[in-house]
Amino acid sequence: MHPRILIVEDDPNVALVLYDALSAEGYATEHAANGQRAIEAVTARSFDLALLDIGLPDKDGFTVCDEFRRKGMLMPILLLTARAEPDDKVRGLRMGADDYVTKPFHVPELLARIEALLRRTQTSPATILVEYRFGDVFVDFYRGRATKKGRPVELTTKEIVLLRYLIARRGLVVTREELLTEVWGYQSTNTRTVDVHVATLRQKLEDNPHSPHYVVTSRGEGYQFLPDGV
Ligand code: CA
Repeated sequence: MHPRILIVEDDPNVALVLYDALSAEGYATEHAANGQRAIEAVTARSFDLALLDIGLPDKDGFTVCDEFRRKGMLMPILLLTARAEPDDKVRGLRMGADDYVTKPFHVPELLARIEALLRRTQTSPATILVEYRFGDVFVDFYRGRATKKGRPVELTTKEIVLLRYLIARRGLVVTREELLTEVWGYQSTNTRTVDVHVATLRQKLEDNPHSPHYVVTSRGEGYQFLPDGV
């Protein structure tokens, strides 16, 4: 099976370059010229990856990205933008995008990033975890929903992905650096991002966030999910 890629791009020239480059690599490629068409496409068919332009005529790429995630679409999303604003990158990653390429892009680099994203989702055991129960918490990863004692708990896309990664490696210590690379998709020394998200996960899911039973700290090493609790 050839991986299926959705190109969301309103500029016909850029769309054609992408379509030709991806088709030549053997990807099954589909094009949507605006945000609404993109949402219709992912609702009707499944894709392994989406290339998403930020500057679209009807709704911007951030909004489309957020709508994909809210619909429970877990495929990797690579954002394309004409601007090299660091704020755009942060905003995109918050909305659940996995990576980011600035236009004008270099086609071989773009292809390498697509390959890396596809490899990550194909080899990660996190992608096959559909639902999971621990203590009085139930998580439906496919729909991106959780409950505690039967009551809904609001989790952000990043919290869901982080929890899924930790649960997929339950019993193992996962370093902050690994979480940044695998969950946020970038190399950074700012591991504080990880700590902040772990803290909010604990507040939402643990009985006592200050003395967690499931998402525990492994001193000096990272974090660990304990399926049976401490
Ligand atoms: Ca555009």
